[in-house]
Amino acid sequence: MKYDVIVVGGGVAGLTAATYISKAGKKVILIEKNEKCGGLVNTFERDGFYFDAGIKAIENTGIVIPMVKELDLDIEFLKSYVSIGIEDEVINIEDINSLNDYKELLSKFYPESKDEINAIIKVIRKVTRYVDTMYRIENPEFKNLKKDRDYIFKKLLPWLPSLIFTLFKINTMSMPVEKYLENIIKTPSLRDVISQHFFKNTPAFFALGYFSMYLDYFYPRGGTGKLPEALERKILENGGEISKETEIVKIVADKNLLKDQNGEIYEYKSLIWTADMKTFYSILETDNLNPNLRKKVEETKRKVLSCRGGDSIFEVFLEVDEPVETFGKISTGHFFYTPSRKGLDGIRRSELYKLMDTSLKKQDVLNWVKKFVQFNTFEISIPGLKDPNMIPEDKTGVIVNFLADYELFKKVEEAGWYEEFKAEIEKLVIETLSNTIYPFLKTKLIRSFSLSPLSVQKRVGTSEGAITGWAFDSIPVVNRLYRINRSVMTPFPNIFQAGQWVYSPAGVPMSILTGKLAAKKILMR
Ligand SMILES: Cc1cc2nc3c(=O)[nH]c(=O)nc-3n(C[C@H](O)[C@H](O)[C@H](O)COP(=O)(O)OP(=O)(O)OC[C@H]3O[C@@H](n4cnc5c(N)ncnc54)[C@H](O)[C@@H]3O)c2cc1C
Repeated sequence: MKYDVIVVGGGVAGLTAATYISKAGKKVILIEKNEKCGGLVNTFERDGFYFDAGIKAIENTGIVIPMVKELDLDIEFLKSYVSIGIEDEVINIEDINSLNDYKELLSKFYPESKDEINAIIKVIRKVTRYVDTMYRIENPEFKNLKKDRDYIFKKLLPWLPSLIFTLFKINTMSMPVEKYLENIIKTPSLRDVISQHFFKNTPAFFALGYFSMYLDYFYPRGGTGKLPEALERKILENGGEISKETEIVKIVADKNLLKDQNGEIYEYKSLIWTADMKTFYSILETDNLNPNLRKKVEETKRKVLSCRGGDSIFEVFLEVDEPVETFGKISTGHFFYTPSRKGLDGIRRSELYKLMDTSLKKQDVLNWVKKFVQFNTFEISIPGLKDPNMIPEDKTGVIVNFLADYELFKKVEEAGWYEEFKAEIEKLVIETLSNTIYPFLKTKLIRSFSLSPLSVQKRVGTSEGAITGWAFDSIPVVNRLYRINRSVMTPFPNIFQAGQWVYSPAGVPMSILTGKLAAKKILMR
């Protein structure tokens, strides 16, 4: 089978790339290993409850909605509101003035740290302004610059000087948020409560700019999975092909060929790879490449294979026999909740690494995980509060997630008590929430189940079960916005890369943007 373009990976990056390529009339096929497209953006149904297994709502960041408009996707976005809670206090984020409520919330639990709180709120306000500037206008990549003169003269040109200033400022805040906060806040638990739900070593501007993102979240009616579904429909409508349950297991770049798990061969003129980059270099045949190209490829391969994926996630899904209104009195449908003001205070990493260094003792790990769950910050999502059609009558589906280490789960699996460990964590999450914000939960729970970093790794094939690409302390790809155009290049002139593994910090908007950039490079050739 011969194609102008083959796109590997049916996450949002691959779907975006294939939609633009098919729109241009090229013969294109999108190849996805699972029976469903969407990758880390997906919604599933169980017992009449609809759950989002990956991302819980989608940040626009001047990218997602313009892409939806440009491609004329059939999708309805609902505004998705965020709440933040500590112990029994919850605030709803409505606009930038909610920062004052956040300040009061922190002051209530850390009255002795008033000056530190004032200082950090000042920084968050400043960074929120930077992030607002970056995403204030629709991203020019999704505008027709030849036709839309109003956009160029009234929006783009006036925006450029403030963007340049902002990019400069942002570069001065690229140190890890943990370190940045140490300079401002001396109280460890306060630092934790502000930052412990961010990935390890998240750049300070990215973490502290999240307040702006909280105001920019949208929820596709019917669940986050409606976004990939709409893209999929558009590809087929444009005459593109989609092959699911097809895993690429070999790349023969000197012959422009791919091979799938059944030995089927696919020939391309151009290739866009949007799946894991370690997989790409591991299954790439380099023997017959010309020596110069081979040297370049081997260098890149070494760099990529030596880096590791970022943090993964543990997710607990709860089916609750309680009307959604009860939850609505507590928070909005997207809730960052810290059950204890104590914070993790080093429990997260240092103790875990000590435990993993020695031979893994089950009781020690179970003691550790108890504290880890109790003092963590949960991202809680209640789909029924975002869209009432996501739940059976008078019942509520709740998803609780928090960052988790792939290596720990791998070691536990090797030691033979993975299912028991998962069940124990589920129990701890339910207990913690029943003892704090949802006192009715334990008695009203119908059913619970969970996904671990190993589930993520098995389903989408990401290195170390990562959910947003590379770990921040080892990034083998572009991580400066002004260089994003180069992020999609590989050592091969006719192979492009896109998605969460090609730009850092990553996430849905960057996967979409790089998907479009990769398509554009091919269409301009
Ligand atoms: C719980 C959770 C919360 C999140 N929250 C946010 C958030 O708030 N904001 C944000 O921006 N992002 C968030 N993310 C991250 C975001 O969802 C991802 O970064 C993004 O969806 C990645 O899209 P992608 O297309 O680049 O990659 P993926 O979604 O990983 O898609 C890659 C696809 O390639 C397929 N594949 C892999 N190997 C092969 C092969 N050999 N052959 C064929 N197909 C293959 C996979 O099955 C997959 O479908 C979250 C993720 C999770 C899980």
